[in-house]
Amino acid sequence: MIIKDIQLKTEFGFSRIECSVSFGESDNKAFIAVPEKYKEYLDPNCADPFLVAILLLACQRDEDIIIETGYVSLDLINNIENILIPLLAEMGCGKGKSKIIYSSVPLTPNPKKFRKLNFPGTLGVVSLGGGICQRQMTGGWKTNLPKENEKRAQGERIFATGISLGVDSFYSILKNLKGESAVSATVYIYNTTYDKIKEGIPREYTDKREEVAETLDLAFIPIMTDIDQIMNKNFEFIEYHTFHNMACVLSLRNLIKGYYLSTGYSYNEMKPSRTDTACYENYIEKALNLSDFKMICSGGEVSRIEKTDYIAQSPIVQKNLNVCFFWREKHKYLNCTQCEKCIRTVLTLDVLGKLDLFSEVFDIEYYKKNKLYFWAYLFHEAYRSHSILENKIIEEVKKRGYKIPFSVWFSFVKIIFNNQIVKIKRFINGRK
Ligand SMILES: [Zn+2]
Repeated sequence: MIIKDIQLKTEFGFSRIECSVSFGESDNKAFIAVPEKYKEYLDPNCADPFLVAILLLACQRDEDIIIETGYVSLDLINNIENILIPLLAEMGCGKGKSKIIYSSVPLTPNPKKFRKLNFPGTLGVVSLGGGICQRQMTGGWKTNLPKENEKRAQGERIFATGISLGVDSFYSILKNLKGESAVSATVYIYNTTYDKIKEGIPREYTDKREEVAETLDLAFIPIMTDIDQIMNKNFEFIEYHTFHNMACVLSLRNLIKGYYLSTGYSYNEMKPSRTDTACYENYIEKALNLSDFKMICSGGEVSRIEKTDYIAQSPIVQKNLNVCFFWREKHKYLNCTQCEKCIRTVLTLDVLGKLDLFSEVFDIEYYKKNKLYFWAYLFHEAYRSHSILENKIIEEVKKRGYKIPFSVWFSFVKIIFNNQIVKIKRFINGRK
């Protein structure tokens, strides 16, 4: 695979870095765009974001990644080759043969010279041709952050995190509002295409997030990309989402020095599996631990129930928690209170004794009327898929002595019976 022609362009109020990615017979373009006011932070000479974005595809195809234009960070290359490529091969994604080639004649950079460049305010990087390229920071950071945050960001780069408004994201935000490594900005990543850049991100995706960020005195940075146009022909989004999102964040590395990535699993639940990058984010975290940038797995130290418990007291969360799969369908409440994610969250809040605090975002009356079905569904999912998330809620039920009526088992049997009927019908229809 070849990454080349990296360029910085500004159109329609957005600045973007774009490049060509060629593999097999196809020649693709890919971009990462931010509002124009963040233009100064994009680096058109750096191939790191695109390298991270397409890594999985190169590994699956057992191809080297050739960086024809732009430079790549030496420590990123080392980490990818020593940590991620072997890990991906172990999980069955390629044979671990891919290499990153950043010059037609790979040269070993002078380590002394490289280290010398790593002083605050400068990023030491390797240029094409094996030379050393110095990426000098512009003095006196001009930020576009809210005024209150300007002081914090002045002269230094900032910490940021994502803002999905879900449990994991709220935990990362609230947990990191104070201290030396406090977040100053939230990031929202949106998949689009070049033709739609001028439309920007639909307000229905950004309004609420921006409002929450402002309430918490944080900047809101929307990022658009079409990286998935290359990846989604070969993978489900869940198989590459962490690489995709971190590639977007890395495009703003001149601004962001640390990014709290909200993990879906706790560290002790993570177990490498190519079905979901969240299963091995602890390894991706190690690989993106660079001299001038750190990805930090946030929330890996606690379970989802502990996270829910932590955020539940916050009035901002009580008014804005949005875990639902179908939130776009304009329900009366922010969450449909019927999908799998809603069911898990509502039951967790009920076990924690905090459900009534969320009456603005969940249809609590609907839950109360259908409580037996909710619990039966959860038990059935735990029984059917052995899912960690459902089983953790059941563990919590036992730990807290939460009482579930015995009649839940009738609903449980009913679900199994109905599922069997559906399967039999499918089998009969399939034979016709
Ligand atoms: Zn829902």
